[in-house]
Amino acid sequence: MNSLNHLGRGEPAPLCLDFIERLRTPVLEWFAINGRSFPWRETQDTFCVFVAEVLLRQTQAGRVVRAYQELVGRYPDARSLAEADADELRRWFEPLGLVRRADLLIEAAKTIVNKHDGRVPSNIEALLALPGMGIYSARAVLSLSFDVPVPMIDEGSGRVLRRILGMAADGPAYSDPGLLKVAQVIIPKTSGRAFNLGLVDLAAAYCRPLHPKCPPCPLTDLCQWAMALRNCG
Ligand code: SF4
Repeated sequence: MNSLNHLGRGEPAPLCLDFIERLRTPVLEWFAINGRSFPWRETQDTFCVFVAEVLLRQTQAGRVVRAYQELVGRYPDARSLAEADADELRRWFEPLGLVRRADLLIEAAKTIVNKHDGRVPSNIEALLALPGMGIYSARAVLSLSFDVPVPMIDEGSGRVLRRILGMAADGPAYSDPGLLKVAQVIIPKTSGRAFNLGLVDLAAAYCRPLHPKCPPCPLTDLCQWAMALRNCG
């Protein structure tokens, strides 16, 4: 892996439009056929997306499917969740080890009701002020629910972009300024939601931290990491 040590930190090289298009197209095409199905991806209801992102923080998606479905089935909006019985909700989440999420969700619902007239806010500052939100989850709500073309960069999608572009890690992906800057340039203005989810799913399918499956990854022809691996022979 020594031949990969040339990959640089900080400012990425400027990207030409042709390269950006050659990157967007396979991500979108692959996602249209292979994207994973989760109940929170079947809706753009802002409250449902918000609940999902609070539940998904640092938690595997498969673990929270049932809790998500039960929660939004019983409390379909912020007003009903704000009046939920906290003890009952904690008992729901206890088997998942997510008791604290019950409190965060109720606190967030109360804030949404009291400060935002019951509607999940659509700007990053107001989202970040809600209990249970982090920078990734706030960006995810903007992208997945409001169709704002902002990148959703977590360790998985960040790893895909870093490897394609030959950027070394400069801190956690969600707060890497060079990575966020380049991701903002790459994200398509009209299909940002699908592009973000495509990167997340490509990371899960192929771009593992160790032993990425470069072929058959659809990005292998333009990925610097894959090229370096080929050159290693
Ligand atoms: S080609 Fe390999 S390193 Fe590049 S994005 Fe795909 S799986 Fe990751």
